[in-house]
Amino acid sequence: MATATRKCCGCKDRFKPETMIKLPVGYFCLLQCSIDYATRAQKRARERQAKTKLKADKERIKTCSQYIKDAQTWFNKFIRLRDKDLPCICCDRPNTNDIQWHAGHFLTTGARPEHRFNENNCHKQTSYCNNHLSGNVAEYRKRLIIKIGLQAVEEMERDHKPKKYTIDELKVIIQDYKDKCKLIK
Ligand SMILES: [Zn+2]
Ligand SMILES: [Zn+2]
Repeated sequence: MATATRKCCGCKDRFKPETMIKLPVGYFCLLQCSIDYATRAQKRARERQAKTKLKADKERIKTCSQYIKDAQTWFNKFIRLRDKDLPCICCDRPNTNDIQWHAGHFLTTGARPEHRFNENNCHKQTSYCNNHLSGNVAEYRKRLIIKIGLQAVEEMERDHKPKKYTIDELKVIIQDYKDKCKLIK
């Protein structure tokens, strides 16, 4: 009579059942084999957990950056409305409808994101000055000083305090600028 054998859950080799250890998760050839099996299972569980957390973090960051984008859209729209009758902050080109107007940041959102929603830092600009003259910074600064004063410009330039926004804060910013836009229109 052929002796029936059983597969060890750990090493996957076959053994006579009577020599094996029976545990709730299955049969093992040796105690050490079951310990190794548990260790591997634990490691896999930890890896799964880490992966899930990473995914959740990524998801949260993605959502947050989408809210920043939305808030920036409404903020910029407000800036264009606020300055609707003004010329370009850089080149004095008068307000006309035949060209594209942007809301241009003096301190760029790339280099100085802490001022992305600072109304002192953003003014109506021709798309040309914004895109082709990299913001036309020197001319921008000259006229910005005339518009808001040297002190306000220097205060802003000095202020490097990082700003972190929660999604709830960004929602408030979005609503604020939607309301402000409605009021001007
Ligand atoms: Zn084994
Ligand atoms: Zn210009």
